[in-house]
Amino acid sequence: MSPTIKEWKEIFNSIGEGIAIIDTTHTIIEANQALSRVLEIPLNQIIGEKCYKVICNLSSPPRDCIIFKKKLEKKNKEVFKKNLGKYLLITQTAIKDNGKIRNIIYMVRDITQEKKLQENILKEKEFWENTFNSMKDGVAVIDKKCTIVKANKALAELVGKKPDEIIGKKCYNIIHGRNSPIKECLLKKAIKTKKSEDLEIYEPFLKKYISIRESPIFENGELKFVIHVIRDITKKKEAENKLKEYAKELEELNKSKEIFADILRHDLLNPVMVVEGLARLALQEDDIEEIKQYLEVILRNMYGIKSIIEDASLLGKVESLRDLELKEIDVSEIIFNTIQDFQIKAKEKNIRIIFEPKECIIKANPVIEQVFSNLISNAIKYSPKNSEVIVKIEEGKDTVKISVEDQGSGVPDEYKKSIFERFKRVKKKGVKGTGLGLAIVKRLVELHGGRVWVEDNPKGKGSIFFVELPKAKS
Ligand code: ADP
Repeated sequence: MSPTIKEWKEIFNSIGEGIAIIDTTHTIIEANQALSRVLEIPLNQIIGEKCYKVICNLSSPPRDCIIFKKKLEKKNKEVFKKNLGKYLLITQTAIKDNGKIRNIIYMVRDITQEKKLQENILKEKEFWENTFNSMKDGVAVIDKKCTIVKANKALAELVGKKPDEIIGKKCYNIIHGRNSPIKECLLKKAIKTKKSEDLEIYEPFLKKYISIRESPIFENGELKFVIHVIRDITKKKEAENKLKEYAKELEELNKSKEIFADILRHDLLNPVMVVEGLARLALQEDDIEEIKQYLEVILRNMYGIKSIIEDASLLGKVESLRDLELKEIDVSEIIFNTIQDFQIKAKEKNIRIIFEPKECIIKANPVIEQVFSNLISNAIKYSPKNSEVIVKIEEGKDTVKISVEDQGSGVPDEYKKSIFERFKRVKKKGVKGTGLGLAIVKRLVELHGGRVWVEDNPKGKGSIFFVELPKAKS
């Protein structure tokens, strides 16, 4: 049995959505209780009224009214009822008779709550987006395949790109400029430890020092995302490095201070005291021959004092040097001239210095002459009479090796390294020296980017000192 008119009315009024039936003159000919509730108008003030007035708050029908749009079957529109503070969603459906509109059915739904919720969500989203983008640190949300899902403005600026140029790209590509993850990648580590991981690196791709903190986000025990917080720490690192340099310089300065204090205490004080004692004795002496003998010893001691002062001041100079001004020079010519300077000393011991000059250009400072002068002087000093000192130059691909060979006492293995440190004088009876020469040699060679070392002379007696220096690039 089909429902009676009364029953239809009851059903009509029990529907939760506001319904109105309109004729072609825009007059509401029927409406239900729900519509009265939504519009907050008694039903009898709705029926018979014009729909555009009661429902749409207009004084005349709008141009886009479905009644004027003959072809349209259905239309949705949102209306804000200012007086009620409500958002309404109106669905208009045309009822047609032989293609002609007979009635329009209005379904009116109060969507204020939904709208407010939507607005709140949007506001919330905007708030988080603003917060995300106002962060000074670069932040990226990365999935387990290293794809950047979200990134903030700071990150985009850090990598010198626009935010939408980063989304969807691989983090190792954007941050490290590579096609695969870096060796130190924290993602794998974070998956294993399930904890945040930190890394500080210099990234040559960005030309920056960066600190990365990775925090994994798990859902039901499975890794969903990893949050990367990336900070540009270049300025901090540079300041730290400067500080380290200052600390090193200070340490070296302190070392030099200690060395010079030591020179004054041990190396200079002794001969000065000897000189003082001898001078006192000489003053008390009347015999001129005796006085002359005292003066001779005083003079020998004075020579020693002089060479200590000379070596100490040279060491002080090379210790404080940072960079040397280098120019192309012929190392063979320097060695040749140095040998000439030592010929008299060598002749005193009947030592023959053998050297075959051949042009060999290196990039060096003329102060390099001190290196060869020290090595040749030592070779003569520690060689017996009637022996040979052989100086050779060997040209390699990128380096030049200079060797000074003697037939002297040699350097015991345990001292082969330490003789290049200051004050490591291996006891040499009757041989005068300051113990500073080889320290000066080492420092100068290192300033030229080279190295120096000593080996036993394979001929059985004596040692060979080697100096290796970089060749001038042609
Ligand atoms: P010095 O010769 O003034 O003592 P150096 O720094 O030049 O200072 O040398 C340090 C030490 O190395 C010397 O005291 C000596 O024991 C050793 N030494 C240097 N050159 C030679 C050499 N050609 N043969 C043997 N020993 C050497």
